[in-house]
Amino acid sequence: MSSANHIRISGIARSLPKSATAKGIDAAKVCPLCGSHETRFAFAENHVALRTCCHCDLFFVSPYPASESQHVRVASGSQAEIEILDLQRRYQGEKLYYGRHFPLIAEECTGAKFLLDVGCGAGHLLERLASQPGLYRAGIELNPQAAQFARRTAGCEIIETPFEKFQAARRFDVITLINVFSHIPSFERMFYALRESLQPGGKVVLRTTEMAPNVHRWSQLHWGIPDDIHFLGLRTLDLLAQKYGFTVTRRICTPYDDELFLPSRWRQTGRSRLVNLAKIAGLRTPFALPALKKLYTRTFGGRLFLSFIVLRPISNGN
Ligand SMILES: [Zn+2]
Repeated sequence: MSSANHIRISGIARSLPKSATAKGIDAAKVCPLCGSHETRFAFAENHVALRTCCHCDLFFVSPYPASESQHVRVASGSQAEIEILDLQRRYQGEKLYYGRHFPLIAEECTGAKFLLDVGCGAGHLLERLASQPGLYRAGIELNPQAAQFARRTAGCEIIETPFEKFQAARRFDVITLINVFSHIPSFERMFYALRESLQPGGKVVLRTTEMAPNVHRWSQLHWGIPDDIHFLGLRTLDLLAQKYGFTVTRRICTPYDDELFLPSRWRQTGRSRLVNLAKIAGLRTPFALPALKKLYTRTFGGRLFLSFIVLRPISNGN
């Protein structure tokens, strides 16, 4: 789940592609996935620029953080006063979220024996999966308070090591990454870790955002930048899968407007009191949500998608 978005950009270190610096190209403008320097400014949030790559469509914060500084930021969500009250609210949010999204995930977990939930937050997905008989569950959560909370709700092992550095004693049939893909700073290390951690025939289940080149700053209210460091463009997933030896076996792209105006989403409260009040007003006013949806679709429709994706590694024999 998304982490606190009030950590400042000052700790960010640039990852500098050697070829770019040698040619005098501004490294902050180089795509961290494909290395192309044909990128353009998309928009800014919290005084941080989001750029998009003209070659692979990836959207990335500029400058792009080095792995270590990103992990410090994600883990230090705890130091930014994430108290039990916040975790309770996050947990309630997870309950509403998985009320909508659990069935598809559960379908992909049928028959699995070992499951790892990367970025498990307050642990509600793992808690729900406890109903699946014989399923060994484990989670990764870098925020210590959230990890402690998840241990209590899910009743299973929660590890506080970044996934790319995690060395599992066992391999997993399913690895879930629900709304965490945009936080993980190294594609190379992440896909390597996924391959190393999966059983033969295993799969990766992820939910993340995909977006069109003309996505707008106001396509959503909060982007979570710079905690969220990259977003998939419409061509990025295929390139990622090809580059790191995975196949996309399932991909459901839901227009953001179909999700945004669901009443259960409006019942999820956040940190902003103003937004929470607006949500209550929206829920109480008859026909407000359908009218707002129509307006949103007319203005920003077709640019932002919430995707459910299943990846499987291509075996060396293929
Ligand atoms: Zn690129």
